[in-house]
Amino acid sequence: MRCRKCPQRAVLGMPRHNTAFCGPCLTEFVRTQVQKAIKAQSMFAPEDRILVAVSGGKDSLTLWEILLKLGYRADALYVDLGIPGYSDRSHEKVERFARDVAEACGSKLMIHTVEEDAGAGIKELANLIKRPTCSACGTIKRYQFNRVAWENKYDVMATGHNLDDEAARLLGNVLQWQEEYLQKQSPTLPASVEGFAKKVKPLYRMTEREIAAYAVVNRIDYLVEECPMAKGAKMLVYKDALNRLEAESPGTKHRFYWGFLEKQKKVGESSVSMTDTDQTMLLPCETCGQPTTAGTCSFCRMMARAKTSTR
Ligand code: SF4
Ligand SMILES: [Zn+2]
Ligand SMILES: [Zn+2]
Repeated sequence: MRCRKCPQRAVLGMPRHNTAFCGPCLTEFVRTQVQKAIKAQSMFAPEDRILVAVSGGKDSLTLWEILLKLGYRADALYVDLGIPGYSDRSHEKVERFARDVAEACGSKLMIHTVEEDAGAGIKELANLIKRPTCSACGTIKRYQFNRVAWENKYDVMATGHNLDDEAARLLGNVLQWQEEYLQKQSPTLPASVEGFAKKVKPLYRMTEREIAAYAVVNRIDYLVEECPMAKGAKMLVYKDALNRLEAESPGTKHRFYWGFLEKQKKVGESSVSMTDTDQTMLLPCETCGQPTTAGTCSFCRMMARAKTSTR
C-alpha cells in the first residue's frame, strides 16, 4: 500500500477517509486535524496557557506532544492514583516523556499523589467511603485538575479524549437518554457553574487507531496497558459495538459523533455557558476555598467521609 500523498510506503490505511499515509504524511495529517479542531471549536489562542491531563497512555502523551510541536504553551498534570504496579508504570512513562521531550520545549510536569494527600491509594479510599473506585477517581481527578488550573491561572484544561471515546460516550448517553449529559457533551466546555475551568478535547477528530499510529511513528513511549479498574466498564462494551459497526461500514463513528455535533449546533445547545447570574451562585468551599455551589465541595465531603471511616 502506497501513501496517497507521496511515493513512500503507507504505514496506516484510513478507510473512513478512503486514504493511506506514510509516517511523515500521517504526522502532518494528525497535527493539521488537531489545529482544525482547536480553531473550529474555539478551544484556545496561541498565547493561552494550557494544562494537559496526562495518564501515561497514548492519547494524553500524544496530545501533549502535538500541542508542544504546534508551539502552544502546554504544561501537564499527572495524578498518581496509587494502584499497585499500574500507577508505578504509568508514572514512569509520564516522567520519562517530560524529561526527554517536554522539558526541551520549556514545558513542565506537575504531579499529584493521592496516597500522600489522602493517606491511601484510590482503591482503599473508595472502599473506605463505599463508593465504586472509578467514581471516587473521577471526583479526585476533576478536583485536582481544576485546583491546579485555578491556582496556577491556566486558561484551559485539555484532555486526550478521542473520537472513539466521544462516540462511545454518546452511544451510552443516547441508550440511557441522559439528556443533561447530552447537552454537556462537547469538544469545548466553557467554565461551568460548578466552578470548573474551561475544558477542551483537541483529539476529538482522531480515532484511537490513528493516534496509536501517530504515537508509534513519532516514538512516543506510552503505557499500552489500561487501568485495571476499567475492566468490565460499560464504555468498553460501547466501544466494541462501535468497532464492529465501523468494520462493516467505515466512517460510522465519525458520522455518528459529528452528526450529533451538527445537530447540537443547530439547536444552540452546544454548551452550558457561565453567565453573570450563574457566577453569583459560586461560593468558596468552607474547607478548601475552591469555588462550589454547595457549602462544602464534593471532594472535601468525600475526604471528610474517608477520615471518619478510619476512626
Ligand atoms: S479506570 Fe477508573 S480508576 Fe482507572 S483511571 Fe479510569 S476512572 Fe480512574
Ligand atoms: Zn507520504
Ligand atoms: Zn473543598
